[in-house]
Amino acid sequence: MVSRVIPVDVFDLVIFGGTGDLARRKILPGLYRRFLSGQMTSDSRIIGAARGELTDADFRKMVSDSIDEFVPKGRRDPAIIEAFLSRLHYVAIDAKGEGGWDNLKSLMRPNVVRAFYFSVAPSLFGDIAARLNTHGVADAQSRIVVEKPFGRDLASARALNAILAEQFAESQIYRIDHYLGKETVQNLMAVRFANILFEPLWKSEYIDHVQITVAETVSVEGRGAYYDKSGAMRDMVQNHMMQLLCLIAMEPPYHFDPDAVRDEKLKVIRALDPVRSEDIVRGQYLAGGGQGGYVAHSENVTSKTESYIALKVNVSNWRWKGTPFYLRTGKRLRARTSEIAITFKEPPHSIFDDAEGWRENVLVIRLQPDEGMNLMVMIKEPGPGGMRLMQVPLDMSFAEALGDEAEDIPDAYERLIMDVIRGNQTLFMRGDEVEAAWAWTDPIINAWEAKGDKPQGYDPGTSGPEDALMLMHRDARRWREIR
Ligand code: NAP
Repeated sequence: MVSRVIPVDVFDLVIFGGTGDLARRKILPGLYRRFLSGQMTSDSRIIGAARGELTDADFRKMVSDSIDEFVPKGRRDPAIIEAFLSRLHYVAIDAKGEGGWDNLKSLMRPNVVRAFYFSVAPSLFGDIAARLNTHGVADAQSRIVVEKPFGRDLASARALNAILAEQFAESQIYRIDHYLGKETVQNLMAVRFANILFEPLWKSEYIDHVQITVAETVSVEGRGAYYDKSGAMRDMVQNHMMQLLCLIAMEPPYHFDPDAVRDEKLKVIRALDPVRSEDIVRGQYLAGGGQGGYVAHSENVTSKTESYIALKVNVSNWRWKGTPFYLRTGKRLRARTSEIAITFKEPPHSIFDDAEGWRENVLVIRLQPDEGMNLMVMIKEPGPGGMRLMQVPLDMSFAEALGDEAEDIPDAYERLIMDVIRGNQTLFMRGDEVEAAWAWTDPIINAWEAKGDKPQGYDPGTSGPEDALMLMHRDARRWREIR
């Protein structure tokens, strides 16, 4: 059932930060899986770059260990791993120094796609971008891939865009938001625009509200000092959740083409109303379940950073007038789940007496743990009890639908890297989109910082602060259960 794998063009991919956590957990195991599938062909190469003095053999050993740790056993084929490792090289480079760049240049081959993945701190983006050009490592067709966070406010995002724009054209810059690489997120576009069923109903006339939830069970322990400078709004809402909101709210693009899609997303961001302070709930998890609370993990006892946020967001345009989008995300919640739920309105008139049995139609798009879609519809309760109504799911779980082949669905990083090689920017954020998202986020954050707003404590293992429930109750609505 999984579609035929079409090999991508031959490439040389340089991963700056090739020995870092992201490279070891996601990028390199992902590339192995693309090699296993035949999408990365055996004449392509991957070059790790970082300051550490490693040999090719050291780097291959590190990657081999990563594959053992992060690729499921059933997908580990010793002969293919060996062939994959032989495609790997390593160059020691300090992004801030001049050494090593000529070695890297000598490894670059003519007439193959060159891509440079900046899997390093954003403070190094400018140094790497400039040296790729001054040392003649990049060519006019080269692509650069940059990781989040892309700025921490509008000013820093603008500065970062300007630094990159000095060296590379926008068509060469791939800003990763791995949420856009998820199978279900792309399926959202297919469901909307390849079916006649949904689009006519996709507006405030028929949709009561939309809920977007990204709930995590993990704490910030181990990366608390970094997280404390960011918080849920910057870490999740400005990027991932904003992208999901855009895909739901955008107008149909004229074509599935990078700029057509990104133009429509940008219009949504620009149509977002400022959020009123009473429509925001911020929280911080307390100690519990044998673990310290947020302030212990962030090592900042006076921290006012939120590990949870819920917001009511209005998209001010014809399509969405009167249909709020409720967003919530947090750490140490009851379950790890990400979903978009689109709740439809009630039919204009009921012909049935069983008003009690009636529930709204809800389209649920699950991003994790098990990717899939679910449409809640009303049917007659089976049996002789008269015309009683009940709600049932029309369930499409990818794992069930695809069986064993579900494991072959590329994960978000794999898919996005292959898109970079194909030169397809549809699933990457454009510079103006990122800036528009910060332009909306900044006043919200500035307002609570100016007030010295302190987040509300919430117990770990719950669905978040009490006030978040009120955000919905006030509007006579309810959050879906986190489970
Ligand atoms: P990390 O584990 O700290 O790794 C950083 C990498 O950069 C190492 O390979 C390090 O190797 C290299 N490096 C540091 N300074 C360098 C320099 N001056 N020149 C050349 N290389 C240098 O970081 P990470 O977690 O992989 O994150 C990398 C980027 O991805 C960051 O921007 C992060 O925000 C982003 N990100 C990470 C994750 C994740 O899950 N980890 C998720 C989303 C986004 P040497 O010390 O040997 O130079």
